[in-house]
Amino acid sequence: MPAPATFAGYAVRGTDGARLRENDRATSYKEEVPTERAIERWARQRGFALDWKPSELPPTTATTTATAKPKDVRPSRPPRERHPEVNTPLPRNGVGYGTYQREARQFARQQVIDAIEKVGRLWAARHPDGPKFFVGDISQSGGGEFGHLSHREGVDVDIRYVHDDRPDGRGTITDRTYNRARTQELIDIILTESGLRVRYIFSDDTHLRGTRIARDKKGKLIRHHDHFHVRFVVP
Ligand SMILES: [Zn+2]
Repeated sequence: MPAPATFAGYAVRGTDGARLRENDRATSYKEEVPTERAIERWARQRGFALDWKPSELPPTTATTTATAKPKDVRPSRPPRERHPEVNTPLPRNGVGYGTYQREARQFARQQVIDAIEKVGRLWAARHPDGPKFFVGDISQSGGGEFGHLSHREGVDVDIRYVHDDRPDGRGTITDRTYNRARTQELIDIILTESGLRVRYIFSDDTHLRGTRIARDKKGKLIRHHDHFHVRFVVP
């Protein structure tokens, strides 16, 4: 957590955002403590992410001003969009399902977790001897940019196709082990019994009812050959 004097790698001074200059190593900082609002504006204008709250800054830290070093500079992406409701991790050893991602990548809104667990219970009841279905990327805690076009709001869930004789469900729709009928059954449960409405399911298997091919804005195919992607609608 950078002290105010090394804020974003630069010292700051003045009480007006317009007068704050990136390269002012303000040894005069301790006399001129910028207002919180000015710091926020200064950061926003330059695309710096604020990972501390200006209101939490103890004014006394201003004495460290002279030690501000350029290597602390952190020009970064605009602050991540945050979704505090994306706060529930998918339970690890659920009924009927397994996971193939780290817990940190499997946070969702509570309703979505409930839906996955419900589908898992229904699936296990119909297939007590397996196979389980396997859940991958959902979102990170708090949502936000995640290396996907989506998966930012805790409502997108990647699920592997059902395969025979694959303990972790890994495989593509062109593998001999791919079980389309079972996968369709899973998709039907998701669509009709999860307790949530589904906005869409992306899949490269055009024979799967209730799914569609995903394309980016330029019309390029976004591949879903080793998992399908469910977007739930959370009321
Ligand atoms: Zn996805």
